[in-house]
Amino acid sequence: MQMKIENKTKWDTKDLRKVFKLALNADNKIEGRFNKHLTVIVKYRNIRQIVKNQIRLGYWTPNETYYYKGCAYYNIGWMRISLPKENINPKIVAQVFIHELEHCRGFRHNQMGKWFKLDVSFLSNDIQINKED
Ligand SMILES: [Zn+2]
Repeated sequence: MQMKIENKTKWDTKDLRKVFKLALNADNKIEGRFNKHLTVIVKYRNIRQIVKNQIRLGYWTPNETYYYKGCAYYNIGWMRISLPKENINPKIVAQVFIHELEHCRGFRHNQMGKWFKLDVSFLSNDIQINKED
């Protein structure tokens, strides 16, 4: 299979690919080889409006996971991942990626655990996602 990354952010595509590949390999060991081509759209997450609404409603609690979002189609190798502009956490990136990959495999939320509880211990602590110059 091929992984095509359409990166609309300043985060280094090579670094993102490394994290995605490690996550894909780890998930393949559990779920079996994903054999469709995969397109990953990477963009920034605009959370200003979300934070504003939450503050207005009175339940804003700073949480690192708010800065990430994903969406995917069922049974098609396509996903979109939205990332923060600063302070990226590769472990959360891997968690979002695996969650969306599960949708690409056909799983629905009632068949899946919470994405932010996914085990990503396959990522070493020194892995980094840097910005392109
Ligand atoms: Zn989902």
